Amino acid sequence: MNHYNVVVIGAGVAGSIFASYAPSHLSICVIDKKHHHGNDGFHKPCGGLLSPDAQKTLSKLKLSVPLEVCASPQMFSVKTVDLNNNLKQVYQRHYINIHRHRFDQWLISKIPNHVNVIDQAIVKNIDFKSIPHTLTYEQSGQTHTLSFDMCVGADGANSLVRSKLNAPKIRQYMAIQEHFKLEDMDPHLGCFFDQRLTDSYGWINVKNERVEFGAALPLQDSLKHYEAFKSQLISSGYPLASPIFKEACLVNSPKQLNQIFCGEDACLLIGEAAGWISPSSLEGISYAMDSALMAAASMHHQNPLKEYKKRSRKLKFKIFLKILKSVVLYTPWIRILVMKSGIEAIKEVK
Ligand SMILES: Cc1cc2nc3c(=O)[nH]c(=O)nc-3n(C[C@H](O)[C@H](O)[C@H](O)COP(=O)(O)OP(=O)(O)OC[C@H]3O[C@@H](n4cnc5c(N)ncnc54)[C@H](O)[C@@H]3O)c2cc1C
Repeated sequence: MNHYNVVVIGAGVAGSIFASYAPSHLSICVIDKKHHHGNDGFHKPCGGLLSPDAQKTLSKLKLSVPLEVCASPQMFSVKTVDLNNNLKQVYQRHYINIHRHRFDQWLISKIPNHVNVIDQAIVKNIDFKSIPHTLTYEQSGQTHTLSFDMCVGADGANSLVRSKLNAPKIRQYMAIQEHFKLEDMDPHLGCFFDQRLTDSYGWINVKNERVEFGAALPLQDSLKHYEAFKSQLISSGYPLASPIFKEACLVNSPKQLNQIFCGEDACLLIGEAAGWISPSSLEGISYAMDSALMAAASMHHQNPLKEYKKRSRKLKFKIFLKILKSVVLYTPWIRILVMKSGIEAIKEVK
């Protein structure tokens, strides 16, 4: 049985960044269920918008996103619509539109050679009670077991690792997204509120020849509510009648700070598995990178968990501000006031 100092579950944004920046004297293994090359297999459903914070972290790491990771077109504003009150405003935003799967593959390509990366493998169980701790994964129909000193859970919103710990429950939505052929529509980013269907939001994005419409919905009756949401957009003129492709996944949205959980004993949680995601915008890429870097730097210390908790206090404060922002955004009367005021809105030329 192979033994590692650290085993990382998940090579999304958080797992890849952790594996790239963790101390090189550690033996590290990263396990992920997607193919690390090509277009087959699991793709993370995502809007693929790199926020200014994500851009800033990439700059700190001296990483420039290659052109093939970028999508077309690049859009500089978001059309925001309150469907219940028939309000519309356009706000400037500074996102970079990327292909999320290619972004993940590009980050994986940066992981240094001394890290053992195992792809197309699903972690089935982790046993923290056994000494040494063990992990079981399946790859090509075969079951493998390895042992480890420390585990890093970077396995996203539906985290197996988090489920093995005494972690608090975190608020979750079902994110459903469909892809459509781009026709009869000016490419733009859209953000839609309908409090009858969700206390989160729906979005429109364009990537090359495709339009993506998605929404984050309460778990109960999510599909029914998604269809109702889509119907409203269709009646507003969006060409969303014939989907090419549908995808869905859970998305975390911390309602309170105590829903963020950095880990326990021999286990650190990073990225969305820990709850590092903005509850106002559901922007999680920058948090995944930042928490991964903090955890990686903490591995130099005798007690990595204690150090990681200390280092991530600022990130927690940032989430606290986003919780406050989400109160403004998702309380209908406050949102109406803000939208009607026109503060920060752009007047489009007719
Ligand atoms: C629909 C949607 C749209 C979004 N849009 C944006 C956006 O535009 N911009 C933004 O910044 N954020 C966005 N987010 C949030 C963002 O995608 C996440 O917060 C971010 O991906 C979290 O990164 P992560 O590395 O923590 O987890 P993930 O990206 O979810 O990566 C987890 C990895 O773990 C692997 N994995 C999981 N379980 C196992 C297992 N048992 N065995 C092996 N491997 C496993 C998966 O293959 C995956 O690669 C969006 C989220 C959703 C759902």
